[in-house]
Amino acid sequence: MTLPMSSSAESTEAPSQLQANLAPVALKYVALPVPLPASDTMPISLTASEGMRPPCRRCLLDASPGEILNLIAYDPFPADSITPYRGTGPIFVHAHDCGLFKGEVLPERQLSRQLSVRAYNMNHMMVAAEVVEGSDFESTAGGMLADEQAAYINVHNAKPGCFAVRVERA
Ligand SMILES: [Zn+2]
Repeated sequence: MTLPMSSSAESTEAPSQLQANLAPVALKYVALPVPLPASDTMPISLTASEGMRPPCRRCLLDASPGEILNLIAYDPFPADSITPYRGTGPIFVHAHDCGLFKGEVLPERQLSRQLSVRAYNMNHMMVAAEVVEGSDFESTAGGMLADEQAAYINVHNAKPGCFAVRVERA
């Protein structure tokens, strides 16, 4: 008895609709692409410690011990978008106004995690999705955005599922 040459037919993943192996383009990062929900929705707050330093999604830095963060339900899709991919998920945000991330390079700690990289077209429909180690993030995201079908990428921390940042062509 011979084994099948390939098991690819058994994959349950949706195929990417983007061209493969394009040269990665330069990236830019958009923290909190839609405004945070109104503050009258009671946030859950916690204080960061040495052993628990959640990443803030406004400044994109990990919290320092003693800093207070709010845990908020956040939907990264525009409020007027009609897409089945909409939905809220948990994010941490510093309780103080830490300033919106404006850098051109993601903080190193952001790239130390396993990341879910999902590309969407201009109608907010998913056209590709990968889970990568942070060290492979820029080449994966840059390759997806090299295809004009991809309008932007939403990055989530793969394990807890928190939205991290939106990525666009620079
Ligand atoms: Zn912050």
